[in-house]
Amino acid sequence: MNILVINAGSSSLKYQLIDMKTEGVVAKGLCERIGIAGSVLKHKGKGGEEVVVSAPMPDHGAAIQLVLDALTDKNHGVIKSMKEIGAVGHRVVHSAEDFDKSVLIDDKVLAVCEKNAELAPLHVPANITGIRACKKVMPDTPMVAVFDTAFHSTMPPKAYLYAVPYEAYTDLKVRRYGFHGTSHMFVAREAAAYLKKPIEKLKLVTCHLGNGSSITAVDGGKSVDTSMGFTPLEGVPMGTRSGDIDAAVIEYLMNKTGMTIAETINYLNKKSGVLGVSGVGSDFRDLAAAEKEGNRRAILALDLFAYRVKKYIGAYAAAMNGLDCVVFTAGVGENDAAMRQRIMDGTDFLGVDFDKEANKNFTRGVIFELSKKGSRVKVLIVPTNEELVIARETKNLV
Ligand code: AMP
Repeated sequence: MNILVINAGSSSLKYQLIDMKTEGVVAKGLCERIGIAGSVLKHKGKGGEEVVVSAPMPDHGAAIQLVLDALTDKNHGVIKSMKEIGAVGHRVVHSAEDFDKSVLIDDKVLAVCEKNAELAPLHVPANITGIRACKKVMPDTPMVAVFDTAFHSTMPPKAYLYAVPYEAYTDLKVRRYGFHGTSHMFVAREAAAYLKKPIEKLKLVTCHLGNGSSITAVDGGKSVDTSMGFTPLEGVPMGTRSGDIDAAVIEYLMNKTGMTIAETINYLNKKSGVLGVSGVGSDFRDLAAAEKEGNRRAILALDLFAYRVKKYIGAYAAAMNGLDCVVFTAGVGENDAAMRQRIMDGTDFLGVDFDKEANKNFTRGVIFELSKKGSRVKVLIVPTNEELVIARETKNLV
């Protein structure tokens, strides 16, 4: 069975067609500038060559139609007709407390997603638009929603509640939800399989470090705490997001600068993080280049990021009363050896014997061990694959 995985953003739509027999990617691509002049589809199909289609995409429906056209195209297509797509798996960012696992999409599910859209206004409306557009073009194909928050639904109240009046939770749903759940779940399971240990017996800290970053404590295969909160703004600093900050800073900044509340939240989401501290950029490769030139603010941003990730690792080891393995994943976690070294520096007290040489000479794209033989706590790079998780969940449900 082929499964089409869709990740719809407000003006973009990423997709992969996955053959579930081999779990291989048959085709993938990205629609950009949906609803904006200059829409373009970049499609990699047969032979892996990129085909660029410039065509108007006034809405997500038009984008999905173009994707289907590309998949079934006589020249660069990979399937004969839409009928060869057995099901569609959609990434949905937020499920609030309504779904603790993936679900088959029907009108009831869509209504619940719509109700929850206000909790992630940048993401969920776009996800819903993607689902509706797909349903219109492929009305008979089963569709599944896979939620970023679902894996974290196992957190205990002491981890997900904020210390504010309880009614904020009961009446207004204010709590920690956590994100990147499909990634944390996938790498935790992969790590357990690699270590040849039942996941039920493992205490893991999974570090998803990319443009957005989050750290999760996975105890016995379950998320018991995670660094992102009510929104993906909380936790470690990120490319452009501040991460944890004293909420009182918001009022102070507004009073001092005249920014509105929306501008201040935008400041924390888009202008902060390693970009804000360094003044260089949000991409860790740019920071590494600036560091080589002795840029002190770039060095400070890298140090601050590593320090804050390390604090979470320590905190979660304490929360779980132990630690068996630290997992690095996503763009920075999988590729940035210098950052991994910075983070793991001075973690020997936890029982980590970090192998600096292995870390420097790591192999990309595979599970790779960064701890020395005999290290009580293992350190692994585990490449994440959120699309594959969505495809597997979809297959299981249909
Ligand atoms: P992601 O959000 O997982 O796609 O990660 C994207 C981020 O990973 C980029 O913004 C970079 O900061 C970082 N990244 C990707 N490749 C490298 C690399 N080779 N070295 C350092 N950082 C990298």
